[in-house]
Parts: sequence; C-alpha cells; structure tokens
Amino acid sequence: MKHTVSVKTKLIPLFCLALLHFALHARGAEPVPDKLVVLTFDDSVASHYSVVRPILKEYGFSATFFITEGFSFRTNKTDYMTWEQIAALHREGFEIGNHTRDHMGVTPNTLSKLEEQIEAIAAKCRAHGIPEPTSFAYPGNAITPAAFPILRRLGFKLARRGGAPEEPYEGGRGFAYEPQKDHPLYIPSAGDARPDWTLGNFQRAVYQAKNGRIAVLQFHGAPDNEHPWVHTPPERFREYMKYLHDHEYRVVALRDVIRFVAPQAYSLDPLEIIAERKAQNE
Ligand SMILES: [Zn+2]
Repeated sequence: MKHTVSVKTKLIPLFCLALLHFALHARGAEPVPDKLVVLTFDDSVASHYSVVRPILKEYGFSATFFITEGFSFRTNKTDYMTWEQIAALHREGFEIGNHTRDHMGVTPNTLSKLEEQIEAIAAKCRAHGIPEPTSFAYPGNAITPAAFPILRRLGFKLARRGGAPEEPYEGGRGFAYEPQKDHPLYIPSAGDARPDWTLGNFQRAVYQAKNGRIAVLQFHGAPDNEHPWVHTPPERFREYMKYLHDHEYRVVALRDVIRFVAPQAYSLDPLEIIAERKAQNE
C-alpha cells in the first residue's frame, strides 16, 4: 500500500507536466515579439560568402541563404559561391534553403518539374553534409498555391515569396509576415532590396516588425554583378545591418519563425490576407 502511494505521488507531478506540455502545444504558437527580422539571401551569389557573411558574424545575426544552381552558377565561380562555401555557411549556423536547381519559376505550367528541381538541390546538400532544406523561396517571384501539396510532401515548413501581388515588383516594397493570417508557404517579403534603396526604404520595411508581424527581408548580392536590378552596394548593406544592431532588432533565419506558426495556419486561404492588404492599399 505504501508503495502504491509513493508511485502515485511521483506520477501526479509527471501527469501535470504532461498536461501543461499538451496545453502549450495545443495552443500552437508563441506570441511574436516586436522588432523581429528575418534575413534571406537569394541566388547563391559569391558576395554572400565574402561580404555578407563576415558582417552578419560581426553582429551575431542569423540568416537563410536560398541556393540555386541557376544562372551561371556551375561555371562562373567569380560571381557565384562554391558548394564548399555553402557547406561552410551551414557549419557556421546559417540556414541553407532551397531555391530550385534552375531558378525555375513556380507556375501551374511548371509544377510537374518542381519535385525534380527541388530534389536536385536537396541531393547536393546531402552530398555536402547539409541537412535537407525545410525552407523554400519561390524563384523570380512566380507563385501559386497549387505548389503547396508538393512543398508539404517534400518536407517544407516555410516558403517565402516577394512583395507581390500586394505591391508591384518595381521598388521592392512589401508587407510584414502575419503568422495568424499568412499561409506559412506563402510568406511575403517586407522588402526586396534594390540598388537605389536608401536607409529610408530599409526602415520602411523593418518598421513593420511589430504588433504580431515579422519583417522578412529579401536580398540578393552585396554586390551583385550578375543581377544588377537587385544589387545592394556593400556600404549600404553594412549601414542596414548597423541600423538593426543599433536599434536592437532580433535577427534570425526563416526556420526560426516556425515557433510562431500554429499547425492550423496550413489550412489558411493564402489569398484572403492578400485581398485584405490590396483593399487597404487602394
Ligand atoms: Zn532568385
């Protein structure tokens, strides 16, 4: 009898802990803190390793690098990273994301090729000791919710798009991510840096990181000789990062926002919040 009581006494706190654990996870997601910024870098540009990486390390910022072997990646090692450099980014704690083998626009017409395009990058990651990416970025701003079942089946938890269709592509403006309203596979960019951006454009993007919203920023190279329309001058990039540091923003990779995403977010209609923002814009 004594023995039974003692077992029960031990089991009660365990049972309470299990209940608490269940309650926390059933709630689904943590509240989003203000001043949360996600940095993402597209297209495997050489300056991601030589310029961006040391600046991020200096400030202790994390980031996601979205890798593609498109453009002249295979032959032009002046302008694009090597797989060894990409693996080094992973070992240093940065996230490696998938941006398709050939930088293929995701449209209803190309969906049949999406798995092969994604698997090619996943295979290269495995060969270089990098975990298979769970974050995806839509190449060239082409987007369709018809890609969701494929992305889910291939193990993706989060996918980033540009600032369109709420904002025109030109200018690189966008909206902050609202985990309660945006589908996790249709995360908007709050800004997509352009060559003529000043600190003011950058501030417009990051100021949105409040009231449950996360500013997900899209960059290409700093510098970017191969994609001049999305080039960021290195001195400007340094200025942006210093601003985030001086103003105490928390800077993370895309994978880090999964804790703010409730499981039920995967059944959201991605077009609803887009329509809402467009209506507000008019
Ligand atoms: Zn791209």
